[in-house]
Amino acid sequence: MICNEKFYIMSNTYNNQAKLFWNANVKYEKFVCELCGGIHCTYESPHPVIFYGKRIVDIYFDISGFIISPAVVELLKENNITGYILEDVEPLEWKDGKGHDTGHDGSSYKLLKVKGRCGFLCDSAGNIIDKCEKCDRHNSDILDSLKDGLAFKADDYDGSDIFQFNNWTWLPIVNEKVKKLIKKHKLKGFKFEELKDYVGCDAF
Ligand SMILES: [Zn+2]
Repeated sequence: MICNEKFYIMSNTYNNQAKLFWNANVKYEKFVCELCGGIHCTYESPHPVIFYGKRIVDIYFDISGFIISPAVVELLKENNITGYILEDVEPLEWKDGKGHDTGHDGSSYKLLKVKGRCGFLCDSAGNIIDKCEKCDRHNSDILDSLKDGLAFKADDYDGSDIFQFNNWTWLPIVNEKVKKLIKKHKLKGFKFEELKDYVGCDAF
């Protein structure tokens, strides 16, 4: 049976705001599946990041996950939100659009690593989307051509407030409680899209 509560895919907006730059110093281990050719990367911590832009927000997309501001960290902790761990980031620089140092300090920002899980990626009817038998990588062609959104089985959900599909660890999923907290505190740069309405990633 699929879980029928409201859940949201959490990501970031791409307005005229500060961003992170890809940094060649990022260290990672790469595993290539011999059956499907899928590439799986594990990134080392602390994660070196380069902030770019003056309009500060509370969530930034990074290759290894989302980087959140001290305000978000505090909110999650104060409200006993479950399903994640935090890792340090190593802010290398924070420059404006002209390449000048902004003086912002990114050292108290954290990498949000999602640990909660809800089973394998399912379509809106609760059917597991075709995946590799060896590494569980989902068929991205199917994900990109969805018309009716995503769902997960209630039995496979561990009940965390923040979680991800076992085989789609790209974007975090949150419950209504997390979304309401972030909206109530007017934290900037967040985007929420209901899981059942998700029909492909339009942010990139
Ligand atoms: Zn595979």
